[in-house]
Amino acid sequence: MECIKCKNEMTKANLMTIGGLILESKTNSIFETPETSRVEVYVCSKCGYIELKATDYKKF
Ligand SMILES: [Zn+2]
Repeated sequence: MECIKCKNEMTKANLMTIGGLILESKTNSIFETPETSRVEVYVCSKCGYIELKATDYKKF
């Protein structure tokens, strides 16, 4: 993945939270099960820009 700020090649990294980050879709009622996705993190080693990407984005 290329950095949108400086065009440097970005490195995949981990955002350290307990259990990792989960992206969850908004639901209209409590009976609806939200879609979830893990989140990939990329960091630019040149300018420090961080980009997040949902791995299961097609479910949303
Ligand atoms: Zn950059």
